Amino acid sequence: MQDANTLLQNIFGYPSFRGQQAEIVAHVAAGGHALVLMPTGGGKSLCYQIPALMRPGVGIVVSPLIALMQDQVAALTEVGVAAACLNSATGADEARDIARQARAGTLDMLYVAPERLLMPRFLDFLDSLNLALFAIDEAHCVSHWGHDFRPEYQQLGLLAQRFPSVPRLALTATADLPTRADIQHYLGLQESPVFLSSFDRPNLFYQVVEKHNAKKQLLSFIQGEFPGVSGIVYCLSRKRVEETAEWLAENGIHALPYHAGLSHEVREANQRAFLRDDAVVMVATVAFGMGIDKPDVRFVAHIDMPKSPESFYQESGRAGRDGLPAVSWLCYGLNDVVQLSRMIQESEMAEQQKQVESTKLDAMLGICETASCRRQQILAHFGEDIAPCGHCDNCLSPPITFDASTAVQKLLSCIYRVGQRYPAGHVVDVLLGRSNQWVTSAGHDQLSTFGIGRELNQRAWRSVIRQLVARKILQVDVVRGQSLVLTELCRPLLKGQEAIQLRPLADKDRGSRTQADR
Ligand code: ADP
Ligand code: ZN
Repeated sequence: MQDANTLLQNIFGYPSFRGQQAEIVAHVAAGGHALVLMPTGGGKSLCYQIPALMRPGVGIVVSPLIALMQDQVAALTEVGVAAACLNSATGADEARDIARQARAGTLDMLYVAPERLLMPRFLDFLDSLNLALFAIDEAHCVSHWGHDFRPEYQQLGLLAQRFPSVPRLALTATADLPTRADIQHYLGLQESPVFLSSFDRPNLFYQVVEKHNAKKQLLSFIQGEFPGVSGIVYCLSRKRVEETAEWLAENGIHALPYHAGLSHEVREANQRAFLRDDAVVMVATVAFGMGIDKPDVRFVAHIDMPKSPESFYQESGRAGRDGLPAVSWLCYGLNDVVQLSRMIQESEMAEQQKQVESTKLDAMLGICETASCRRQQILAHFGEDIAPCGHCDNCLSPPITFDASTAVQKLLSCIYRVGQRYPAGHVVDVLLGRSNQWVTSAGHDQLSTFGIGRELNQRAWRSVIRQLVARKILQVDVVRGQSLVLTELCRPLLKGQEAIQLRPLADKDRGSRTQADR
């Protein structure tokens, strides 16, 4: 058997292994199964490429992403590894040629799409080969919890029955606990070791602000902290991408739009400009970023709330790949939550999947509303337990909380009095004693709660409502007109049996990091 370090140096040209790579390679080369959880860019590929070369036979790599397979095969071929890929785009002649090489034992690695692998004829073909290992890349695709569920991935479990002695290595960058459990279950890895790398990105500074006027806030963030650098701004819709790119451009920032509705040529040109120049701000939907490897992105800004902690982590993780300080800046509001919930409810997803998505959305709102360390909250989502990081917005300027028991009682009674059938805006109008046409036509100016909340302004009330939604004391009924609805958790608060601490108006009072530094 060839030595792992020699292969690493002679073939791949790297002086040493990174993180847990050496351990994983040794374990798999010795015939072990494993689950590898490593953030994007962590170096998962070498974890199966090197053992595949060390062990006799051909290494089978299952991947759902054709473009990525082709890139890898090209890169391997370049360094002299005999690699090939089989997918829907492979012609019959080429496929026959690849099969011949595999049988002759001259192929080191074969990349296949899962649906191809699962074809009975292909499995028979595998029976006739000497197999080095199975690497199952993007293994989160087995799980409904993953962001990219693929039913055929669950059937990969048959590899464990049919080829029990061939090492199975599942790899993913999505490491939340339910996904992890699903991978172990479906791929028969319950008894196998889990190699978990830290998902922490120490050079990323997290800052979350409440939304008043997203475009203006974004502009002052960029002008104040990051003039003339590369950045990415994520928006929820195509329309918002275009408006925002225009607005930034009008204000002297080299901003370009990117979304799936633009022509192929425009997208290509904008992406090229972003990669080439060092001061382009890409304003994009989440369609942008997969496979983009630009090291010097100094900030990622979200001007709408991402749909889950994983999306947030992946998207903001595109900043600071070079290891130098970078910022993840997120601007969010209650309307984002309402809009995202509605998208979930109105989608074609199965009921179970809707539940999953709603739970993730709640977790994301929790990260936004937390008064404690952001990094701790984010990593807890991936099953990592760290001490407060000392360099996120909440660690650097801990939010001051106040006893909001009376205010919360007023709000909850008001929601109760309007029959739990009105959205936040209406409830706040009643609290502030604004007798506009909707309030008067509903007779809500006659309620005992009309005008009882004048000690807070509209913005403060919205902040209180958001925090209560984040803590599941209130729910937004997106099916029925976004009405605010009380949950079970309201009872002790309404009865005055429990006190509640909330954050007051956050970012306006707290200022940004650089202002505090100056
Ligand atoms: P992942 O699949 O986890 O996202 P990759 O396997 O694509 O990550 O590796 C990310 C980058 O890190 C690649 O450019 C790869 O060449 C590089 N890399 C991986 N391992 C090492 C190492 N031991 N030393 C130096 N560079 C490495
Ligand atoms: Zn922190």
